[in-house]
Amino acid sequence: MCLDMLRHKKKVLLLLLLMATGSIIYYLYTLKLERERDANVSSTTSRLEREISELQAVFESEVIPDLGALGRPARGNWTQEELEAMATSQRETGYNAWLSKRISPERTLYDMRHRSCKKLEYSLEKLPSVSVVITYHNEEASVLLRTLSSLRNRTPILLLREIILVDDGSSSVDEKLNDFIQIKFLNMVRQHRIATQVGLMQARVAGAQLALADVLVFLDSHVEVTKGWLEPLLDPILKNNRTCTTPIIDTIDYENFSYRRGKPSRGFFNWEFNYIQLPLLKEEAVAMPAPHKNPIMNGGLFAIGRQWFSELGGYDKGLKIWGGEQFELSLKLWLCGGQILEVPCSRIGHRYRDGKFQIHYTDKDKKKENKIIAKNYRRVAEVWLDEFKDKIFANMPHLTVLSVGNLAEQRELKKRLHCKPFKWFLDNLAKDFLNLYPIIDPAEYASGVLQSVSSPKLCLDRNESRHEHPKLSPCSSDHVFPRAEQHWILSNRRELRSGLYCLEVRNQGKDVRIFQCHGQSGNQFWSYDSKTRQVIAGQMSNFRQCLEAQPKTNSVTASVCDPKKSSQQWKFGYQNNQRLSHFWDNVKTQ
Ligand code: UDP
Ligand code: MN
Repeated sequence: MCLDMLRHKKKVLLLLLLMATGSIIYYLYTLKLERERDANVSSTTSRLEREISELQAVFESEVIPDLGALGRPARGNWTQEELEAMATSQRETGYNAWLSKRISPERTLYDMRHRSCKKLEYSLEKLPSVSVVITYHNEEASVLLRTLSSLRNRTPILLLREIILVDDGSSSVDEKLNDFIQIKFLNMVRQHRIATQVGLMQARVAGAQLALADVLVFLDSHVEVTKGWLEPLLDPILKNNRTCTTPIIDTIDYENFSYRRGKPSRGFFNWEFNYIQLPLLKEEAVAMPAPHKNPIMNGGLFAIGRQWFSELGGYDKGLKIWGGEQFELSLKLWLCGGQILEVPCSRIGHRYRDGKFQIHYTDKDKKKENKIIAKNYRRVAEVWLDEFKDKIFANMPHLTVLSVGNLAEQRELKKRLHCKPFKWFLDNLAKDFLNLYPIIDPAEYASGVLQSVSSPKLCLDRNESRHEHPKLSPCSSDHVFPRAEQHWILSNRRELRSGLYCLEVRNQGKDVRIFQCHGQSGNQFWSYDSKTRQVIAGQMSNFRQCLEAQPKTNSVTASVCDPKKSSQQWKFGYQNNQRLSHFWDNVKTQ
């Protein structure tokens, strides 16, 4: 019995000893693992740090601290060489890409929201989170990085589920940039590449299909969001899930990247499918900064429920590259049971390009790009404008000779969603539009040639070959119905137009150019004084200039008005004196 107990004790002791040794070995082993892991982590961290600093050197080493901070114009004492580099980059891209590289992607912006916007409070838990979809084709790295940084820095993290970055067939893949984006923005950005360019419409739809959040925010790749931009865009969608919201679009200057205030407005298109901005209705102006109805969105920046976007079928699949898609989506939204609200408390800056730079996306093939846009316009008119399409076709007859492709799917969708006719849109959203852009145009103020009084053999010519500066050329024999390049109309919009082109004044005067009519007065506003025979640029009475013939160079300038100078006198082929006598009725001149 005793011996038995003793043997048992021994066993227990042995067991305890074994257990203790086991624990010590296990402890030592975990200690070793931990050490190894620590070593690994620190080597990964240092690798990551190294990679970041290497990539930073590639993309951010030229940044000049504080340049363009608070959205101020990015100015510096540039050398001649630097100025030349800027000019070259601007010629090639339509904006100052050279300067963009020197402005920090994290630059600050002045908070220019309306006072009462700053006081609004939102409960973030109640607002839906968003997938931001950005598509781009050959976007400049520094511009894209600033877009992304502004999103990260000024969006509540709780609301930003992801940024989906769709590379729409850019001509080359920048692996380094892609890596930098992954590292810099960690898991915030999901990148997706479409190998062959499909155009912004289908690229956006592809991005939307990857999205996980309930609300989609579409943005161009060259924007900067400002403080508090997102919450007010989401609030109206929360209240009505068939609402699409748009921010006020501020302007980022294409030359010096200054951030300028944009105006609240109601978007629309004119009968030539130019996007135009109408003033707010009286009651809307009084209620500022409350959201107001926006008939047609500008196109690049908007928020919409993912489900609603998909019910609307995204964009028409027949629309290619760019152009007209903002009209299609806006009309579809309003006519098929939704609404678009502009939200003045939300502001996003958009960098436009120099107006001279027109061809972006089709390897500099202007004809090809124009044809694609024209076809897009034709599709939108055919599907959504009903009998009013003829008004567009009368102004743009070239649309009617294009093959428009298959519209069955669009017509089917229109039926399925019980969409209303375009007449409803005009009746409900466009009363003021019809006053400004009537369906039946009254007679023009004057038309035919514009003949110089000082050099009566010469007439103003839109200079078909270059479409930039007009010239003086020998007058057509028929002054009332001259050849197209000399046929000018002092139109009801008070512009001097020849076909789709208008005379405009650039660079604070001096420079007279031909540009597509934009229908927004401003630098395309012209009047004719039948007494002095002056052709006068400018609506406001304190800033007017007169068209002056320069027969030595066969050109024209906009010069200080002098009624005595016969070089500033012109004769129209036909003058409607009755209408001219009412030219200034209801026109603001102060
Ligand atoms: N874009 C695209 N694919 C194209 C054309 C444009 O993804 O084939 C992108 C472009 O990079 C930009 C957005 O679509 O981010 C809108 O184009 P853009 O800025 O030229 O339009 P705009 O602002 O001039 O109206
Ligand atoms: Mn854009």
